[in-house]
Amino acid sequence: MDGVAAVSQRIGEIEGRLALLGLSRAPGGVLGGPLPTTAPATAAASTSGRSFEAALAEASTTPAPAGVGSGKALVDAKGVPVELRQYGNGTVPASALSNVEGTKHTLWTPAARSLEALRSAAAADGVTIGITDSYRTLASQVDLAERKGLYSQGGLAAKPGTSMHGWGMAVDLSLDSKAQAWMRTNAGAYGFVEDTPREPWHWGYHPTH
Ligand SMILES: [Zn+2]
Repeated sequence: MDGVAAVSQRIGEIEGRLALLGLSRAPGGVLGGPLPTTAPATAAASTSGRSFEAALAEASTTPAPAGVGSGKALVDAKGVPVELRQYGNGTVPASALSNVEGTKHTLWTPAARSLEALRSAAAADGVTIGITDSYRTLASQVDLAERKGLYSQGGLAAKPGTSMHGWGMAVDLSLDSKAQAWMRTNAGAYGFVEDTPREPWHWGYHPTH
């Protein structure tokens, strides 16, 4: 509640400052009359709207409770873990990867932990989530592309160096129809998304979900 109160207070301060500048967040309250519909006025209105939003976003960043939004902060806009970008796709050191308990497979550590929780929950429901592939080195991506063809050409392999497997952010699963249905219902809660058309076995880790 302290965080909410602080943000509310900050919004109040921002609104006060905007009022001094003759701006208002309420469109009807500006200048006491209908806004002209000319382009410059529209641009001005949208600019003031953006600045309010920007100020609000700034005010809201500091007091976020621990844990909230942390998953989102771990990956960039392309879903690549920020801590892994320095290493490169398919050349991630073992120290950044973790074994998925009870399997020979490895993923980026947060993804591995989340997949373990997912598999435990599935097992409790009597569903087995088998894993057939996980992190892929650059060499194994090249090999796969040669054997299965490029996805862009109707095959099943990403261009080497671009696969989400190369970041330890995707798994290929062995799923019977019951397990496939269980995944479609429940996997999102663990950050796993069926994100590639034609590949119902391929599940990407999206910690923003
Ligand atoms: Zn895959």
